[in-house]
Amino acid sequence: MNRLKTDVVIVGAGPAGLSAAIELRKLGVGNVLVVDREQQAGGIPRHCHHIGFGMRDQHRILTGPAYAARQVQLAERYGVEILTETTVTGWDSATCLTATRPDGLTQIQSSAVLLATGCRERPRSARLIPGSRPAGIFTTGSLQNFVHVHHHPVGKRALVIGADHVGFSAVLTLKEAGVDVVGIVTEFSRHQTFLPYKLVSADRHRVPVLTDLKVQRILGKQRVEAVELADVRDGSSRTIPCDTIVFTGNWIPDYELGYAGGLAIDPHGHSPRVNLRLQTSVKGVFAAGNLIHAAETADVAALGGRHAARSIRTYLDLGDWPDGESIPIEIAPPLEWVSPHTIYPGEQSAPQGRFILRVTQVLDRPTLRIWQGSRCIWQHRYRVLIPNLPVYASDQWLDQIENKNTPIRFEIIE
Ligand SMILES: Cc1cc2nc3c(=O)[nH]c(=O)nc-3n(C[C@H](O)[C@H](O)[C@H](O)COP(=O)(O)OP(=O)(O)OC[C@H]3O[C@@H](n4cnc5c(N)ncnc54)[C@H](O)[C@@H]3O)c2cc1C
Repeated sequence: MNRLKTDVVIVGAGPAGLSAAIELRKLGVGNVLVVDREQQAGGIPRHCHHIGFGMRDQHRILTGPAYAARQVQLAERYGVEILTETTVTGWDSATCLTATRPDGLTQIQSSAVLLATGCRERPRSARLIPGSRPAGIFTTGSLQNFVHVHHHPVGKRALVIGADHVGFSAVLTLKEAGVDVVGIVTEFSRHQTFLPYKLVSADRHRVPVLTDLKVQRILGKQRVEAVELADVRDGSSRTIPCDTIVFTGNWIPDYELGYAGGLAIDPHGHSPRVNLRLQTSVKGVFAAGNLIHAAETADVAALGGRHAARSIRTYLDLGDWPDGESIPIEIAPPLEWVSPHTIYPGEQSAPQGRFILRVTQVLDRPTLRIWQGSRCIWQHRYRVLIPNLPVYASDQWLDQIENKNTPIRFEIIE
């Protein structure tokens, strides 16, 4: 067994992990090691060839590969050590990880661990969609790998399932691969992206957004031949011929490593539970990026990584950890999840001054109320809330918390 020793080990060399590593070095931490299972560092942006990365963290607009390359360059310039082809598989203790590498099993001992393992789209199998199992079914991630990394042919006629940002970037990837896109399907009454993004992808390529439709069955023997869709309003069905299906969105955090390490997992968002300092339930272990909010844009993940780095620096200096003292945040439908999940009494600011939320349905002019017991400590009215799109709630009510034994409750009223 190989043995490595470092001050901080970061699992995942995506935007969150690399930004955290750079920030830790800027804050004077001696040895920072980032490990990633892929052959190259950079995370998901490496294979997102469209523009739209880096606005809030790099203050420039880059393509995914350019953004990833810039982050890797910066990390190297700041003396971060990056080990690729290194998959962390388990824990010997809270701050001692085990990993597999081409040269064998490796043990990594550190003073603090940051998990930044990102998230993934649920594949067809996890969506429990009936029908045959022909070739031609992708997620956006596997499609991008197919097209941009391996340069394989995809198909001729595709249907995209899911109308969030990523569904629209799947259209761009499919067009680049010379595939005709017959539609973007969503079970909601509208798409879930920003208008400019829809304009440069679906509208530009005359791809219709087909609303209020759910996939009922996939047809085809060797290869996909058609998709049967059901109208969620009246149950009527229609069949769309196609040879390629791309399932997009429907994210799940890559939380398995955290789970294996005994970290408490949030039952709503399925990510390790973190407080405002991004500390998990296990001393010395932090989490950031899309692992704790699946899925936000790369710049939000990167800024979260920087926030985690500042918390890690404080922890390395002071060694304090909240032992069972955190105030939980409770939610109910139509809220899907909130991040961070708990509050350490006395904390006055959340990462980037806000909480991130998701809703499960389109809501017109809803109000978010935040309660502690019977006291409403903050409220805000939104114009519209849309599933899959970020909802932000200010942290300006934190100084209103009076009792560390009473949970905080987020409530949406239409
Ligand atoms: C199709 C698509 C289009 C997108 N378009 C945009 C866009 O235009 N603009 C934008 O800002 N964002 C976009 N995003 C979102 C952006 O890619 C993510 O927000 C960002 O990559 C999240 O960063 P992260 O560091 O949290 O995770 P990731 O980038 O997912 O990085 C996590 C890393 O952890 C590694 N890892 C996981 N488990 C292990 C393990 N056990 N051991 C070792 N390594 C491990 C993975 O290999 C990966 O490299 C897009 C995403 C997709 C899928």
